[in-house]
Amino acid sequence: MNNPDKPVQFIFAGKAHPNDKAGQDLIKRIVEISKDPEFIGKVLFLQNYDSELARVMVQGVDIWMNTPTRPLEASGTSGMKAVMNGTLHFSVLDGWWVEAYKPNAGWALPEERTYSEQEFQDDLDAETIYNLLENEIVPAFFDRDEESIPQEWVGFIKKSITEIAPAFSSTRMLNDYQKQFYTKLLQRSKDMVADDFEMAKNISAWKKKVSRSWDSIEVISVKPLDGAKEPMVQGLEYTAEAVIYLDSLQPNDIGVELVVASPVNQGEVKILGVIEFDMVNFENGRATYQLKFSPNEPGAFDSGIRIFGKNPLLPHRMDFPLMRWI
Ligand SMILES: *Cc1c(COP(=O)(O)O)cnc(C)c1O
Repeated sequence: MNNPDKPVQFIFAGKAHPNDKAGQDLIKRIVEISKDPEFIGKVLFLQNYDSELARVMVQGVDIWMNTPTRPLEASGTSGMKAVMNGTLHFSVLDGWWVEAYKPNAGWALPEERTYSEQEFQDDLDAETIYNLLENEIVPAFFDRDEESIPQEWVGFIKKSITEIAPAFSSTRMLNDYQKQFYTKLLQRSKDMVADDFEMAKNISAWKKKVSRSWDSIEVISVKPLDGAKEPMVQGLEYTAEAVIYLDSLQPNDIGVELVVASPVNQGEVKILGVIEFDMVNFENGRATYQLKFSPNEPGAFDSGIRIFGKNPLLPHRMDFPLMRWI
């Protein structure tokens, strides 16, 4: 901070919640440091943080620094505001920044923690922050051409404004809502009421029918994924099969699917994928469902097979929650 050729100033602002003692103590500490003779004018604390103050800050500073504790950053909206104002963002890859960060358009601390002990992690993060500032960020800011323009820095700003900012605007948000939800919902409402509620009646009748027959469905035989006992080989094809007595139901009233997960005995189970079987034969109320599966990667997996009520008119699976592991 006291390098006469490359001076740096830290400006803090923020409010601590009345019940947030640690936050209040932190602000107190910053204010104390700002009064230390060697940091006078170098470390500033601006009081009464509000949107008006935030507005001038996001426009006026060169870097917006945020140092959340992973993975607790809910969003980090202020970073988005800074980026829209041509300010470069520097934060932990957490909250919005983990989605937004691009090389040469800002700076980041790794997403993964190195230590579970927060104190060690804070020390490491502080070290990384100081190193990045001292060796990359500050030199880039002061590296000027003959017209005193920091070309590399301006390149970062251009990239940040063109490639990051547009993806975090309210225009994008509204477009997302419209495309993913409102337009679909509007169309669905229209479809539901058309022809004197034809579709609504269809769905309701289907739900009644499947609910009534659900307990009469019988699993005649199941052949689990062959090879599931030992690690799978990429490129090989594995098959599974289930024969199911459907009572009065039609083969397309239910679906059969394979749920593939990481090995259950190795700690936390991760669902890797869900793949639906094909219906290949239907005779005397018995339907045969078959799956041919070629793993994208080799290794050991666990898998389970389940049946569910299937109807393309449903808005989503949970609209008809009957499901059975077989
Ligand atoms: C932008 C803003 C926030 C949100 O800041 P985060 O870094 O996203 O928590 C809070 N308060 C004010 C006054 C703001 O302008």
